[in-house]
Amino acid sequence: MVQNGLTADTTDATLRAMTKTPQQWREQTQRVRGGSFRTDLGEMGEPIFMTAAFAYDSAEEAEARFLGESEGYMYSRQENPTVRMLENRMAAMEGADVARATGTGMAAMTAALMAQLAAGDHVVGARALFGSCRYLLDSFLPRFGVETTIVDGRDLAAWKAAIRPNTKVLFLETPANPTLDICDIRALADLAHENGARLVVDNVFATPLLQKPIDLGADVVAYSTTKHIDGQGRTLGGMVLCDAEFDEEFLYPYYRHTGCAMAPFTAWVLLKSLETLSLRVNAMCDSAEALLAPLKAKVDDVRYPTDPGFAQSALAAKQMSRGGSMISFVLPGGQAQAFDFMNALKLIDISNNLGDSRSIATHPWTTTHKAVDPEERLALGITDGLIRFSVGLEDPDDLRDDLVQALDAAGL
Ligand SMILES: *Cc1c(COP(=O)(O)O)cnc(C)c1O
Repeated sequence: MVQNGLTADTTDATLRAMTKTPQQWREQTQRVRGGSFRTDLGEMGEPIFMTAAFAYDSAEEAEARFLGESEGYMYSRQENPTVRMLENRMAAMEGADVARATGTGMAAMTAALMAQLAAGDHVVGARALFGSCRYLLDSFLPRFGVETTIVDGRDLAAWKAAIRPNTKVLFLETPANPTLDICDIRALADLAHENGARLVVDNVFATPLLQKPIDLGADVVAYSTTKHIDGQGRTLGGMVLCDAEFDEEFLYPYYRHTGCAMAPFTAWVLLKSLETLSLRVNAMCDSAEALLAPLKAKVDDVRYPTDPGFAQSALAAKQMSRGGSMISFVLPGGQAQAFDFMNALKLIDISNNLGDSRSIATHPWTTTHKAVDPEERLALGITDGLIRFSVGLEDPDDLRDDLVQALDAAGL
């Protein structure tokens, strides 16, 4: 039966056919077409299925769907066709069996951890993490009887020493926000597996383009799609990627019953965004590389993962194909000079987002990491002169001019 050119059956038959194809496509083709399917109307753009629920042809069909004996959509908290297209495209790009899209990046991080943890388990996490991820480890998980240990993510011996018999998860972010610390994904995946644990990687700063944690041995990869995947600072979203066993045992039950799903409209925006991900992220990397010399001419401490002057550049180059869109630098005059610099910017915005087409300067000490204890902030390398700079898609010469005049205005 075809109503309005579409039934769940035609959609699913087409979807099943299409999801086999992307494996044969090269990555850029997957970013443009992976996971998409068409209804019988033959539309070129992906349709937005703004529906909470789906109707069944008969009571028997409804029963069969609930038993899992018949394929088809049931309820958009679990699966929605537009969201499914995005999930399949992300899974194909990442080399994962399964992707599940969430309402925000933090919903993805929470799902990646909570789905697999229970009271009595232990988690080891890198200390340099997105502020809210630190909250999950420091305050939230312990409330449910999950023990956590925080280590210097760069120090393999510290990770090893922190492992306990009940360690279930190693959790890290690399490059880390905002210090750009690098963790060795391959070595930590091996360490996790030797100890019966899993490695969960927050891959936001590297983007799906520049670093492939699953190829390096990670078990679960999570994103805030709010950042480079959207790329224009419009939507909030997240994504968790894993293999089929992890999804079946942990992720899907958590996802469908706790209700962290992404809205179909957001998924549609992100499907458009993925088509240009490599164009955008490569252009941001080009600009970041071009801005290093003018920044270094005025500031001593400039950090960029693949810059030869960066302490961990060899490891960064081993696991990332390029350095990314984030540069951190430290102004010697501390908060006063950092504020003078930011207030003198004429083009670059002061905001706390990143991965946007518009360049953004952030002062982590007074904003994103204000909730972290000051001593802990200093131990992390977050000083009051640190600026986190997200390189956008403006002309790099305009970015250089703005940075240089603002550094001048701040007395540098
Ligand atoms: C932004 C971000 C998050 C959280 O994502 P939201 O979409 O803001 O919820 C998590 N990790 C990193 C590294 C981020 O940059």
